[in-house]
Amino acid sequence: MEEYLKKFNSYRSASFTWLVIRKICLTQEVLQKKGRTLVPRCFLCNLTGETNSHLFLHCKFTIQHWELLLDITSQSWAMPEQTADLFSFFFF
Ligand SMILES: [Zn+2]
Repeated sequence: MEEYLKKFNSYRSASFTWLVIRKICLTQEVLQKKGRTLVPRCFLCNLTGETNSHLFLHCKFTIQHWELLLDITSQSWAMPEQTADLFSFFFF
């Protein structure tokens, strides 16, 4: 069972990463393009529109998580503009 959960979580994480890189993760920006009527604000900070790059890179709450990760791994970088640039840093 534990091995199954490990594989399932790995698959789920890879699937979510793929959605983020392709910018098809259901952010409010994507939902509005699909015709949904929403309040165009980030649900974390409520300061600006919820775009892919804002939610996963530039939101003030998201930045705190990135800073923690960078601190734990003793790395530093300039935050990229797009999520695809971020993942190319990690995986390529
Ligand atoms: Zn935000």
